[in-house]
Amino acid sequence: MEKKEFKSESKRLLDLMINSIYTNKDIFLRELISNSSDALDKLYYRSLTDKKVKVNSEDLAIHLSYDKEKRAITISDTGCGMTKEELESNLGTIAKSGSLAFKENMTKEEKIDIIGQFGVGFYSAFMVSNKITVTSKSIDSEDSYVWESEGADGYTIKKAKKKDIGTEIVLSLKEDTEEDNYSQYLDEYELKNLVKKYSDYIRFPIQMEVMHHHLKDEKKKEYEDVLETETLNSMVPIWKKNKNDVKDEDYDNFYMDKFSDYDKPLKVISSSVEGMCSYRSLLFIPSHAPFDYYNQEYEKGLSLYSNGVLIMEKCGDLLPDYFSFVKGVVDSEDLSLNISREILQESHNLKLIAKNIDNKICKELSDMLKNDREKYISFFQTFGVQLKYGVYNHFGTDKDKLKDLLMFYSAKEEKLITLSEYVSSMPADQEKIYYASGSSITKVNNLPQVEQVRDKNYDILYLTDYVDEFAITAISEYEGKKFANVENGDLDLESDEEKENIKKVNEEKKELLEAMKESIGEVSEVRFTNKLKTHPVCLTTKGDVSIEMQKVFDAMPNQTGIKAEMVLEINEKHPIAKKIKELYEKDKETFEHYTKILYSEARMIAGLPIDNPTEISNLICDVISRS
Ligand code: ADP
Repeated sequence: MEKKEFKSESKRLLDLMINSIYTNKDIFLRELISNSSDALDKLYYRSLTDKKVKVNSEDLAIHLSYDKEKRAITISDTGCGMTKEELESNLGTIAKSGSLAFKENMTKEEKIDIIGQFGVGFYSAFMVSNKITVTSKSIDSEDSYVWESEGADGYTIKKAKKKDIGTEIVLSLKEDTEEDNYSQYLDEYELKNLVKKYSDYIRFPIQMEVMHHHLKDEKKKEYEDVLETETLNSMVPIWKKNKNDVKDEDYDNFYMDKFSDYDKPLKVISSSVEGMCSYRSLLFIPSHAPFDYYNQEYEKGLSLYSNGVLIMEKCGDLLPDYFSFVKGVVDSEDLSLNISREILQESHNLKLIAKNIDNKICKELSDMLKNDREKYISFFQTFGVQLKYGVYNHFGTDKDKLKDLLMFYSAKEEKLITLSEYVSSMPADQEKIYYASGSSITKVNNLPQVEQVRDKNYDILYLTDYVDEFAITAISEYEGKKFANVENGDLDLESDEEKENIKKVNEEKKELLEAMKESIGEVSEVRFTNKLKTHPVCLTTKGDVSIEMQKVFDAMPNQTGIKAEMVLEINEKHPIAKKIKELYEKDKETFEHYTKILYSEARMIAGLPIDNPTEISNLICDVISRS
């Protein structure tokens, strides 16, 4: 019998798991029971959609037993089972879905985390076993097979003689060592405890043969021991339990187990709604992005149950895109079980539930922002970008619902603030909400245009996410105040006198400015300005497309051709203004070189690429060597 090797990634992970010291070996049982429960769910679901599959719901169960002498624990289920191919692909590869970046010096906690994160539950059994034997017969196969492995060096698969559909897993426990006591699991009390602790909400009975001490004859006071099947879990799904009877820890455990996360959720939202369409929902906001969140294949959705029975693993219609990171379950009696998926999606009640859930999440987030700002910020830093997408997607339909959940970096406060906070601390003479965008806070802070606005004691929102400006544009105004990009040419912050003065200069030097514009080619105007205090030049824009927006358009795969209308502004009070004027009169060639250098400087400050860096660098060298 040929022994097959695990895929190489799997081998490393197995090594890591088996040879590391885990603080919590207990979870192996929870993982195996959850797999069994999933397999039972799958079989039940098949029976609803496939007439050929008949299932007697009383037979759907998980069975647990142990054998002290053989040092073995057996977990078996009457679920859908696995074909030979499934045994091979499901148990022969670990972490199919994620590429694992192994860090050599991970902390103990991080090592444990791997199990949950990558859905490698099954392998956690190697923490306590030196051999695992899986015998399985699939609903889709005539034959049954046995998979066996002693750890990292590989596994074998051969035919077996299992008659009933389902899976049986036998763990041969490791010998006890000074540090680890594996024999503890060969104990009725211990196993019962573990089931209660981690798997109480499993909807199928987890049964064990338990010796009961019965009074046989009252008169003679005679007792006898009888072996009886006992169901260890209460089987009420956690979302159906009374909130007061569930501990925070239970919700956390349920979440981590069901949604394969290694971290507790940031927020648990449990609700029970009675009315036209009654339902219970248990929602979780993860504390970090789900590990596959940025994969193309990531599917949003909530698990949909009807009366405790799973009818759809991921019902996307229950969540708007901007809450696609929310995990959870919805259980409603008011959804008919027999209807097909298509009809279900059309269902009026489903839409009603989706709307309620949307509002509920909004409300919870807004409460969090009010009452637990630190937590909200942690949420916003992880998922805020989704909300910003939500604001401008669908032509801004949802912006009013979401705008108060947004936060932006405030130049004045040097931290995240809301739009409402910005507006309420505006000085009386300030009419607009100012913002500036760039790739980092430091870069934005150094923009020449920022200075003038800050000098007026106006706050500026620094936008560093590339969706920010699109979101702001979609909102367009907040509490009657319009948004204004400080990079926009017409900020209108100068006094009438200042305006008059600069207008005069620009008129006088019209010819010079026109010559500069000609020589640059791609700007719509060149002008002198008095709004720059210390900086020599800057680029501003006219119209709706800002420089940052153009960068986003440029990065898109299909070129949109959308361009910002750029203006090169030169600080009239800076010595360079005088120099330029002189050169225009005396030395046209050097004038042109200076123009090119100044324009490149302005592009550089705006974070735009320079098309002809060699030419510019040579020009600069020329100038330097002359002085
Ligand atoms: P996960 O459960 O997170 O997908 P596991 O490593 O625990 O990862 O299991 C891998 C796969 O093996 C499961 O997704 C399932 O398809 C299959 N599997 C595991 N245990 C069983 C079982 N008892 N019955 C049927 N299939 C199973």
